[in-house]
Amino acid sequence: MRTLYCGDVRSAHIDQTITINGWVHRRRDHGGVIFLDVRDREGLVQVVFDQDDPEQFAIADRVRSEYVIEIEGRVRARSENTVNKEMATGEIEIYGLKINVVNSAKTPPFPLDEYSDVGEDVRLKFRYMDLRRPEMQQKLMLRSKITGAIRRYLEDQGFLDIETPILTKATPEGARDYLVPSRTHEHSFFALPQSPQLFKQLLMVSGFDRYYQIAKCFRDEDLRADRQPEFTQIDIETSFMNEDEIMSITEGMIKQLFKNVLDVDLGEMPHMPFSEAIEKYGVDKPDMRIPLEMVTVSDLMGEVEFKVFSGPAKDPKGRVAAMKVPSGNDKLTRKQIDDYTKFVGIYGAKGLAYIKVNDKSNLEEGLQSPIVKFLPVDVRAAILERVGAENGDLIFFGADKAKIVNESLGALRNKLGEDLNLYTCEWAPLWVVDFPMFEENGDGELTALHHPFTAPSCSPEELKANPEAALSRAYDMILNGVELGGGSIRIHEESMQQTVFEVLGIGPEEQEEKFGFLLGALRYGAPTHGGLAFGLDRLVMLMTGAQSIREVIAFPKTQTAACVMTDAPGEATEEALKDLHIRLRQKPKVES
Ligand code: ASP
Repeated sequence: MRTLYCGDVRSAHIDQTITINGWVHRRRDHGGVIFLDVRDREGLVQVVFDQDDPEQFAIADRVRSEYVIEIEGRVRARSENTVNKEMATGEIEIYGLKINVVNSAKTPPFPLDEYSDVGEDVRLKFRYMDLRRPEMQQKLMLRSKITGAIRRYLEDQGFLDIETPILTKATPEGARDYLVPSRTHEHSFFALPQSPQLFKQLLMVSGFDRYYQIAKCFRDEDLRADRQPEFTQIDIETSFMNEDEIMSITEGMIKQLFKNVLDVDLGEMPHMPFSEAIEKYGVDKPDMRIPLEMVTVSDLMGEVEFKVFSGPAKDPKGRVAAMKVPSGNDKLTRKQIDDYTKFVGIYGAKGLAYIKVNDKSNLEEGLQSPIVKFLPVDVRAAILERVGAENGDLIFFGADKAKIVNESLGALRNKLGEDLNLYTCEWAPLWVVDFPMFEENGDGELTALHHPFTAPSCSPEELKANPEAALSRAYDMILNGVELGGGSIRIHEESMQQTVFEVLGIGPEEQEEKFGFLLGALRYGAPTHGGLAFGLDRLVMLMTGAQSIREVIAFPKTQTAACVMTDAPGEATEEALKDLHIRLRQKPKVES
């Protein structure tokens, strides 16, 4: 039986006879001496076989990459010139006494002992091999450490881990539901939870007071970059706490986690109103590591001849904004500016105007730009003053509907931050607060910005009178431009919940049909309550420095929501469909 993990063998074990289990990571034949690097989840150790025991030597000679072996051997110091400081076990090696091949292995589909540029599809198809790579093992081990630390923090604060159903009814979080047909209830479907939202609220009504769950959630979204159809949330709910108290207790959790796992001090997290985030950074999840800000200049542009600017300046839904890139003159070439013009096009911007400030004391000749000739000198001066321009700076402009300006300049800000490496620090957390209750969905209808159970900061009367202006008691924690988590104080009174449903166009009948159980619960003594959920996958991604959430999920789906390893989703048999009372529609004919 194993006495030590490979990666744990140290000088303290010298002269001990130990047994290890693991996989052959690398095999080197130095004529008469065979070196095996043996790997397990804790790391690598070097084992040496010489010909003193020809039988064992012959076995060691036969093993290949990824064979599973058990080795008994004696730990000894490496000679001074072979010590490997890069390896945790680099001061020692194991002199092999006995080797037992537990299992052979085919040649791996990609090498595991060196960097190889293998496509993600291949890695996902052979995920069980991909996960053997030390890098992947470390990421998943860190994930486990993170969930462990979170559980400990929450348990210490009196939170109870309570499971909620996976087969349930729709929970509106803004995505499509995954449906599961019921065999026992003909023509009826369960929905997989988009979040445990309503159940955790009901647990508060039941008096559990502090709840948490590391919960799987399912959202059938059109797959935008880096989303997974099933993902994990650290889901939290509390009673009798206001938003500041909830933010404070969960901020403490994230800070302690970073300290314990990464030895990083995140410091105080500032609070920023949603309106300020949009005004200055164009997005509700600003990356505060980037020292660039957008400034509104609409008021300067109403009368200019340049229609591209004056049009949006006069449109109540329009915006003209400027964003200064300090010393951008030298940093950005014409070609780069052209590329950025294409880039903002993705967000609907029709162009990307700019001014290069060569000499701010000479407003006639000192500004280089295709648009400057359309701007009177006093407007030029006012722009420079407003953005605080210095010689050598470059100023970008966005002019369009406010939504397009915000999204395009907001994305450009992130891109400039990355391309020019403008980051001023490694970690920049903050809370975004004071969100609007509702947003318009393009068809003139209102939808809940968070979800319909979020409490507004005003009375039901005020909400009804002017829903567009209402703010909610919601909060999001943002880290480096990524939404780590979000939540809100919930509605705990039936009349307020009904008012919100009404504003959302959900009439009394639909309210009863979809949310009758919630309204019922609110009639029986619901405490004030609120909570939030953190996206565990994103949190682990940030903490491990991974490029995608797929890198920190053991068995993720592809971008098209499939599993290439198991071939899920798959077809169902006629019989299974019959049991479920389902007849499939014809597939639409593919035009040739
Ligand atoms: N249910 C919310 C979500 O999944 C989180 C919360 O409000 O607690 O985003």
